[in-house]
Amino acid sequence: MRKGTEPLYLGYEAPRLPDAGGRLPVALVFPGPERLALSTLGWQVVYRLLASRPEFLVDRFFLDPSAPGPAVSMDAGRSLDSYPLIALSWNFEEDARAFLAALGRAGIALTRSERSGYPLVLVGGPLAFMNPAPLAPAVDIFFVGEAEAGQLELALALHRGFLAGTDKASLLNEVAAMPGVYAPGVSKTPVARVTGGADDRRLAEPGFSCFVSPRAEFADMLLLEVNRGCPYGCRFCAAGFVYRPPRHADLKDLQAVVEMAAPAKVGLVGTALTDWPELPAFLHWLKERGTKFSLSSVRADGLTREFLAFLRRAGVRTITLALEGPSRRLRTAANKKLAEDDFLRAVSLCSELGVNHLKVYVIIGWPGETDADYAELAGFLGEIQAARAAGRGGRKKGLELVTLGVSCLVPKPFTPFQWAPMAGEAELAARLKTLKAMVKPLKGFQLSADNPAAARLQGLLARAGGEVFGLLAQASRSGWREALAAWSGDPAKVLDRERGPDEIFPWEVIDPGVSRSFLWREWQRYKAGQPTRSCPPEGCQVCRACGLESR
Ligand code: SF4
Repeated sequence: MRKGTEPLYLGYEAPRLPDAGGRLPVALVFPGPERLALSTLGWQVVYRLLASRPEFLVDRFFLDPSAPGPAVSMDAGRSLDSYPLIALSWNFEEDARAFLAALGRAGIALTRSERSGYPLVLVGGPLAFMNPAPLAPAVDIFFVGEAEAGQLELALALHRGFLAGTDKASLLNEVAAMPGVYAPGVSKTPVARVTGGADDRRLAEPGFSCFVSPRAEFADMLLLEVNRGCPYGCRFCAAGFVYRPPRHADLKDLQAVVEMAAPAKVGLVGTALTDWPELPAFLHWLKERGTKFSLSSVRADGLTREFLAFLRRAGVRTITLALEGPSRRLRTAANKKLAEDDFLRAVSLCSELGVNHLKVYVIIGWPGETDADYAELAGFLGEIQAARAAGRGGRKKGLELVTLGVSCLVPKPFTPFQWAPMAGEAELAARLKTLKAMVKPLKGFQLSADNPAAARLQGLLARAGGEVFGLLAQASRSGWREALAAWSGDPAKVLDRERGPDEIFPWEVIDPGVSRSFLWREWQRYKAGQPTRSCPPEGCQVCRACGLESR
């Protein structure tokens, strides 16, 4: 954590806006309803970063594209067009529509070429460094990286320039070469993603909620970041590549946050929670304090009897395990390091120790998948059912419900699958039908699935360049259905072909740190069904396998 600064934490309190004198007014936009913003860590981290400083007046905007009329801010009741700096936290591709709708309804021109003066539109969040291209025509600056690694420095430069009366074009020229700044048309590309903390083994500034609320999706819960990045390198997972290197928080830092905030409940957030060596100590410490907690997900091989028994005593009733690939062949190819025996042992333990609800995640639409992969899944679901019964051991009570959560594989930028074609809508729908039939005879099972058409739309927005900006602009006025019907482009051109080794992608205006040659090698290894070792515990200084340390 930053030394000498008291972190801003408002908990249940609503923010009080300070006097505007000497401050740069900032509209901090979350592209969805308040309940989701209050359960989203990145947006709250940026709120804290800016609202704790005397240079800024930060007003919150929550967007609902179905609500008529211009968006009104939460704290001052003002409209977007009264702010010289509009900052968006961009987490999901589809959110671009709500943001453009808010600009349009506030009477703000959608493209920066039509906006010679202020407002300046600043976009951060994971989509800013995964593929800024679809939204680039609307944006003056993307912040490419982790907020604590330079977003404040950028905002301070904008504050100085704005208060000095610098015109927007000159200000963009001034900041265009700052670390993590991508000003389209001004910055030299590729722009290197910036990461927090010089030590690759430690998460120097773990994120935590600024607000706790009964209205939040995770009601009354303080979210706390335990680790960032993931050492396993599953080839479908963007978080495993774009948040490298993997880093853990310090136990003392997290304890300090909990002592300061004193929440009733803590939600632990991270990509590899059970890899954090201090997790058991932290959970025991929380339990002793009487603080409830929940874990976003656990790895099957991290779920020991002792650990699960402890979780049960602490009141945990739901466990989530990711199977991902339907067959061992596809899991190996995807680099998902999972032993089936560990998985079944975890299911049996859940049943034995009285977990109520087990969620099992599986992904459909793998490049090269066959019916045989799904026949193997049918058999494995039967084994899960048997492990569940064995764990119950003749008792009436046991694991009450197993939910098979099904998502469609969207080949994301800066993963080895950036060269892969995406499965078609009909293909995905057929797989879903197979899975529904598989689950139907299994007592106590239910299925919850992605919509294939929505997944294809996400794929299009994730992988396209500026050619989809017209589609986004139209969708911001009329909704997706009408916009897609009117769009002259062809989603198949973006989604349905395997890319060649030398094809340049629209997202390569960003340098994520992980080298293209490493990602290409990983794609070839997927096709050959070969796993790759995880990030070694010694860290990047000795590894350099993915090129992160040598750029
Ligand atoms: S350099 Fe090695 S340890 Fe560091 S993120 Fe890349 S693969 Fe992992």
